[in-house]
Amino acid sequence: MNTRVGTIGNAAPLVADAAPMIDPFGRAVTYLRVSVTDRCDFRCTYCMAENMTFLPKKDLLTLEELDRLCSAFIAKGVRKIRLTGGEPLVRKNIMHLVRQLGRRIGSGLDELTVTTNGSQLARHAEELYDCGVRRINVSLDTLDPEKFRRITRWGDFAKVIDGIDAAQKAGLKIKLNAVALKDFNEVEMPDMLRFAHGRGMDLTVIETMPMGEIEEDRTDQYLPLSKLRTDLERQFTFTDIDYQTGGPARYVKVAETGGRLGFITPLTHNFCESCNRVRLTCTGTLYMCLGQNDAADLRAALRGTEDNGLLHAAIDEAITRKPKGHDFIIDRTHKRPAVARHMSVTGG
Ligand code: SF4
Repeated sequence: MNTRVGTIGNAAPLVADAAPMIDPFGRAVTYLRVSVTDRCDFRCTYCMAENMTFLPKKDLLTLEELDRLCSAFIAKGVRKIRLTGGEPLVRKNIMHLVRQLGRRIGSGLDELTVTTNGSQLARHAEELYDCGVRRINVSLDTLDPEKFRRITRWGDFAKVIDGIDAAQKAGLKIKLNAVALKDFNEVEMPDMLRFAHGRGMDLTVIETMPMGEIEEDRTDQYLPLSKLRTDLERQFTFTDIDYQTGGPARYVKVAETGGRLGFITPLTHNFCESCNRVRLTCTGTLYMCLGQNDAADLRAALRGTEDNGLLHAAIDEAITRKPKGHDFIIDRTHKRPAVARHMSVTGG
């Protein structure tokens, strides 16, 4: 028996009691990350080549199609959606999708969040809050405007700080994400920690993920977080805590600042056993694991029919292929990543 809860555009009614998504290893999929665009107004050196070739617009799902897909996932048990990119806020009319999804909060969806580089935040912060977003992640790798320009190639540090100010003023809780890069921000981490915690923001540091061909040599950038942690513990006192945000970060409480610091270590620590997430790209490709190449084409199922039952069947089939764990390996001989797509395609 299906319970009808609404329609999207001309599509068939949504079903609220579609079968939940349980993968072959017994993990319930409750978290969907949606990369709404592969484009970005920055060109971070560890993420993109300077002359990126982006997807042709015709390959992108429309915002209505993204909404219909997200709704299918909510009907199948997704409780949390994070919009990512590229940079999600550079997608034209993105707030239309945010508003649509925000209406689902409390009826299926528990939380809608956004990961942003902060460049467009000053413009959108109030509306994000108005749409029901309460927490956002802002990617920020340095507090030095000149270094910021160097790592992002095109970014303006002052604009990001304005964005953070506006978001906090609007009532959004912010977590800063910093990619740990050897010889780049290693020495700055104590300051970043004080900056984040001084403004009431959590900070998460992330090991570089070997995804997508770029011009730099990733093996030179790799900074193990175990080393970073040891260095930080010369100045700060950490206590491991059981704080969970539904993500892979392991958190510590920092005695000197009272704030939380998270570590995400895809290379040196396997966080797969509790994985509850899948990733959807802006072309409707579903990646069941960030660190594997296997994917399902949901665009065909979406465009081929208005019958949501078939769409649900395509999602179910994809979930049966969710692998046990990731396969991040840097091919050191060829200096190539094991996963060739860029992080800006799947949104990290
Ligand atoms: S890391 Fe984020 S901000 Fe930087 S280029 Fe990639 S998508 Fe853009």
